[in-house]
Order: sequence, then structure tokens, then C-alpha cells
Amino acid sequence: MSEDKRTVAQQRAKTLKGRIEDYLEAREDIPRGLYMQKSLQERKQRILEILGGSEEDWNDYRWQLANRINDVDTLKRIISLTDDETNAIRKVDKLFRWSISPYYLSLINPDEVFDPVKLMAMPTFLEIEDTYSDLDPMGEEYTNPAGSITRRYPDRLIINVTNECAMYCRYCQRRRNIGEKDEAKPKEEVQASIDYIRDHEEIRDVLITGGDPFTLSDGRLEWIISQLYEIDHVEYIRLGSRTPVTMPQRITDDLVDMLKKYHPIYINTHFNHPMEITDTSKAACEKLADAGIPLGNQAVLLNGINNDKFVMRSLNHELLKIRVKPYYLFHAKAVRGTRHFNTNIDDGIEIMEYLRGYTSGMAIPTYIVNAPGGKGKTPILPEYLVSRGKDHFTIRTWEGEVLTHENHPTIDIKSILKKQS
Ligand SMILES: *Cc1c(COP(=O)(O)O)cnc(C)c1O
Ligand code: SF4
Repeated sequence: MSEDKRTVAQQRAKTLKGRIEDYLEAREDIPRGLYMQKSLQERKQRILEILGGSEEDWNDYRWQLANRINDVDTLKRIISLTDDETNAIRKVDKLFRWSISPYYLSLINPDEVFDPVKLMAMPTFLEIEDTYSDLDPMGEEYTNPAGSITRRYPDRLIINVTNECAMYCRYCQRRRNIGEKDEAKPKEEVQASIDYIRDHEEIRDVLITGGDPFTLSDGRLEWIISQLYEIDHVEYIRLGSRTPVTMPQRITDDLVDMLKKYHPIYINTHFNHPMEITDTSKAACEKLADAGIPLGNQAVLLNGINNDKFVMRSLNHELLKIRVKPYYLFHAKAVRGTRHFNTNIDDGIEIMEYLRGYTSGMAIPTYIVNAPGGKGKTPILPEYLVSRGKDHFTIRTWEGEVLTHENHPTIDIKSILKKQS
């Protein structure tokens, strides 16, 4: 290689490094669970003392479920609350369900007013202010042909198997399903859903969701999964669960041993912030990945939590470190009680703009807006195709350079080969 080519490459490398200097600096201030093990350990000890549990209890998801915090007085003993906050929680309690696993509570920095995890877990008065938004903006109630199915696509559908979750996210887009009390869907309803799938040969992909399917017992889950596995035209099964985030103890050896009997199994989880990625959630995801289950992540774009280009870049990096591939970034809809979490679409487009090129393609989810009326997931991208002509098209690169590219007709290989023979 000639000296001047080398010099050009070295100059370019310097420019490239400069492109992420702002990110590297901003990252210093983003709390990331994998780098806060000492504080997390201390918070865990404190919560265990207050709730009267042992280390063994903590690692047992049954203890985590049974000890979910859903009364203000217990919450107050763990994180300090102002009178306004206390009153707001009492008021929201009458309208919307809330409940926080002790593990998830330990991710909250008690000294931080705008803690992202606290915003996702703890009710605020903003939920009551929102009387405008619809409870079912996606019209899910009109897409249920049988049992507890949501069908919006030709070849795949969702079965909703429970309304229970390990923690009730304040921004939940399925809030209308989260009832007053935890209940698995009745067996007959799930059976009707499975029967519908058996009768519809075009369904090749089934997604099991809720609530959170991993709040069901292993036995009940296996009853569902094994029946789907027996249906020839069902090519693979997907599960959506936020327990790797909110109650990673749920990912037990028994659960994983059961799941891996029914491959291909795919799991999508739901991390929204780098603080949610800890040694414990990492162990849960590794266990699933080691069992041959590919993991994807569906994040929701949330005001005050992750509507920031650097927080989102960091989240996607942390995910890949724990073997989870970013899959979707959902634009939040206005669901009643959650409107304050909604963002402008520009926030999402800016995030996407500062992923492509700046980081691995592996770290880039697809940004999705759910079309009104349940008309389906619709991808949104910054504009890269500037204009299109017969012989040329113009593109914009990730660095903002506008370049012209030749546009050739697609050759009909078959007819050319036919003529020659
Ligand atoms: C999101 C969704 C799916 C799955 O969509 P993919 O893009 O395949 O991940 C299937 N059915 C319904 C009703 C959905 O909302
Ligand atoms: S885990 Fe999912 S379904 Fe359950 S409350 Fe959170 S966002 Fe809603």
C-alpha cells in the first residue's frame, strides 16, 4: 500500500472516531445495570431486610411473585416518597393496577427523582390526568376470531394466555387486558384458540403472549406449547415475556429444559433501558440462549425513559452483550393513562438516524408505528433515498453526503438464456 493511501485511511479513521466522541462522553452519565453491581447488591440487601427474606428467597421467583409490592406503605419503607407521590399512588390504585417485584424495585436509584426504572414502575398523578386517550387504540377487540386470539396478519397470530405480569409497567399498551386481579385465561378459551390454529393451515407462526406467559406454571405452558408443536403447519413458536427484565429468577433450569423440547422456539423480551440489563438478567438470557433459543428485544419508545439517541444506542449495545438482538422499537400509542409517555415521531426518527452507521447493524432495531385501527406494524425510517430516476437514483449516506448512484434495469436472465439455447 502506498504511503499516501495509508495517510488517507488514517485521516479517515480519525474522522470516524470523532463521530462517536459525543456518545462516549454522554455514556458516562447513563446508568447501566452491568456496571452498578455494588449498588444493586446493597439495595437488594436492604429490601430483603425490610421484607424479611433470605438470599435464597430472592433467587426464587415464587418468592418474588408472592412479595410483589402493591401497597404504598411497604413501598414507602423501601424508597422515600413525597406526600404528593403517596397521594397520587393511592388515587391511581383505584383506576389502574400496579405491582412491583422486589427485584425490579432494586433497580431504582432511591436518590434520583427522574429515575427511569421508577418512572416505568411507580404510578404518578399523570396517569389520572389523561382522560382523553382510548383504552384500545389498536382496535384489538375487533381482531379476535376465536378463543383469545389476536389476528391481524395472513400467516401468524397471537394467543393471549394470561393477564398477569411480574410488574405492571406504567406505560403498558395492553392496559385494558390487565384486570383487577391476576388470572390465566380459562383453559377452554386457550383450547379454542389452539383449535382455531389447528383448523387454519395458513397459520405457520404462533406468538404466545399476555400479560406475561411466564407467569403461568411450567405445566400450563407446556400444555399449550406441546399442543402447538403437534400441529404440522405451525413451523415455530414465539413467546413474548418481560420476566427476563422484571423477574429474571423466573428463567429456571426446569423452564428452559421444558422449552427446548419444542424447538424451534424464539423468545422476544422487553428491555427499555440499559439500567435494566444486570448480572441477573444476563444470567437469565444466557440460560435461554444456551438452550438454543434465539432472543430478540422489543423496546417501546418512552418519553423521559429512552427517547434519547445515546440512551437507545447504549441499550442496544448492552442487549447484544447479553445475547439479545434488538428487534423492534415501538412508537408508543396514546393508551388511556399512559399519554405522558408518548413521544413525537421526530424523537424516534432521530434515534434511528444516530444508529445506522454509528453502530453495528446488529444493534439496530426496526422502528415501528402501529397503524390506526389495528392495520398492522408499519416501519418508519429516516429518508435515505433522496430521489429516484430512470437511470440514476440519489442517496444520502449516514454521514449526510448526497451521492448519485446508477440505476440499471433488472435483466431478465431466463429469457436471455432461453434465446441462447
Ligand atoms: C406484532 C404482531 C405479530 C407479530 O408481528 P411480527 O412483525 O411478525 O413480529 C403478529 N400478530 C399480531 C396481532 C401482532 O400484533
Ligand atoms: S410486562 Fe408487558 S403486558 Fe405486562 S404490564 Fe408490562 S408492558 Fe404490559
